[in-house]
Amino acid sequence: SGSGNGTAKIGETLKQEEQAKEQRSPGDDQLVIGLSIDTLKEERWVKDRDLFKDAVERLGAKIDVQAANGDDAKQIAQAENMISNGVDVLVVVPHNAEACAAIVAKAHQAGIKVISYDRLILNSDVDLYISFDNEKVGELQAQAIVKQVPKGNYVLIEGADTDNNAHMFKQGQMNIIKQLVDKGDIKIVYDQFTKEWIPANAMANMEVALKANQGHVDAVIAANDGTAGGVIGALTDHQLAGKIPVSGMDAELAAAQRVVEGMQTMTVYKPIPKLAEAAAELAVKMARGEEVSTDKKVFNKKIDVPAILLEPIAVDKSNIDATIIADGFHKKTDIYRNV
Ligand code: BGC
Repeated sequence: SGSGNGTAKIGETLKQEEQAKEQRSPGDDQLVIGLSIDTLKEERWVKDRDLFKDAVERLGAKIDVQAANGDDAKQIAQAENMISNGVDVLVVVPHNAEACAAIVAKAHQAGIKVISYDRLILNSDVDLYISFDNEKVGELQAQAIVKQVPKGNYVLIEGADTDNNAHMFKQGQMNIIKQLVDKGDIKIVYDQFTKEWIPANAMANMEVALKANQGHVDAVIAANDGTAGGVIGALTDHQLAGKIPVSGMDAELAAAQRVVEGMQTMTVYKPIPKLAEAAAELAVKMARGEEVSTDKKVFNKKIDVPAILLEPIAVDKSNIDATIIADGFHKKTDIYRNV
């Protein structure tokens, strides 16, 4: 009896999906890709938006971009709006990994596929995940810091607890330092997530870490360049800037400058054009109803999500010219403005 009901339900859902599709493209066959983005307050997301938009347009589709300013309710409302306006595929950079599952459910009710961009949407049936290898990012950060300081007091300034990436970065860092902690070479004297990834929050946390340890901090693993900036601000107040290693990520211009000026040990360069262009191609393919294939899967606490993970690159003083500058990610004259 139960199975009969189930079949009827599936049939109904399919009918609803077809009706929804017809409503979305009445005669107009130009595809529309929706991009729902957490925030544009950080340098990288502006790049992501611009590059993704260009790529989608080059592929002949239209684009609708909505930025939520770090507000979950707003992100969900904006996505719902795009769904009812009839986008063909929705690409989401979630502010909150769990909250955005609601977007996936709503989109699927309307027969619209969802791509998780850079950050994974947890506990959902999201159709595809495209990002960098984020565990590897954490490994690169920790490796660079351990190379400078194999023994000592470590401070971990992590990303936003609500962002799955922050947990993956930390996982990668622990892959490298856990055995050194177990051996007693490294002591983690402070370990904190940074609310909303905000540099001022990272700075306040770093202040607490320095006070609690009477300034006896030997190394800092900071999850990205924004938080690294906050950490270095706190270190400056304690005359420690440039004296202890600090990691980062994103190859933001300010961070690249700090790297060549000796204030920040490294950053992780994630070539955004590759991510944005690959995501745009996949989105347009999916919008056309074509199959997309991936070689990896990432578990999101509900399903194994088909995934594409690009390679991150560790950058320090020694290879900044050959990476960030050679790629045209930043201009040499901008990076070396004070050197
Ligand atoms: C991204 C980082 C970014 C951070 C803060 C993460 O999910 O992967 O590149 O620095 O969010 O926006």
